Amino acid sequence: MLTTEETRRYSRQMQLPEIGLKGQTKIAAGRVVIAGLGGLGSIGAYYLAAAGVGHLRLVDRDRVALDNLNRQILHASADIGRSKAASAAEKLTRLNPHCRFEAIETDIGYGNVEALIEGCNVIFDATDNRATRQVLNSASVKKRVPFVYGGISGWEGTASTFIPGQTPCFSCLFPPMAETVEAEPPPALGPTAGLVASLQCLDTLRLLIGLVPRLAGRLQQFSGSTMEFRTLPIDRNPHCPVCSRLQCPSSP
Ligand SMILES: [Zn+2]
Repeated sequence: MLTTEETRRYSRQMQLPEIGLKGQTKIAAGRVVIAGLGGLGSIGAYYLAAAGVGHLRLVDRDRVALDNLNRQILHASADIGRSKAASAAEKLTRLNPHCRFEAIETDIGYGNVEALIEGCNVIFDATDNRATRQVLNSASVKKRVPFVYGGISGWEGTASTFIPGQTPCFSCLFPPMAETVEAEPPPALGPTAGLVASLQCLDTLRLLIGLVPRLAGRLQQFSGSTMEFRTLPIDRNPHCPVCSRLQCPSSP
């Protein structure tokens, strides 16, 4: 399945007994949709491409702006004004020509989300707003595709992994709210995004190779100002408007 060049490229991670040739072959067969190519998506897409995930669908509606570049390290100064999805696909192709990258410049909404996640094993959330996460979560629950969530604000970061039918969903944790006026964008620091996206990548790789994702059913919080991690269990909301009708074996 893997070429000699690929076996050499991934040899250091294939030394891990959990990966080996079998796991690497699963990673190569993996398809992940990355929703957002900003601070989280830059690092998420880069590590997943470097690890050899076979197919990455890169979705972002935005174009690169100067004030993105303190954290969105997949893009460079010369990319200002370009589509983030196209800029990302170009850099990732340069990094790993063995992977397939699909650049899609679009908004994510209820009308197109199911098409955007079609055929994918994992939804990698790298968006910057709760409304889009609700859209992704509803498709995750409906189509039973795991949803790996990450968010940052300044020094603070959070991450969790939602497995339809097994864990609470994103909407159990953050109930959908009525649309509100978009607030000012929060402060954003590159290393916080890098750390949260790295946690998301670890769970994404675990999902692809068939290991239990460690953030399933728990919310991982990190503060870059105190350098402390905190883990909170997440309870399923029996009245959750998104997943309450779905059979949930782990619930009482
Ligand atoms: Zn739910």
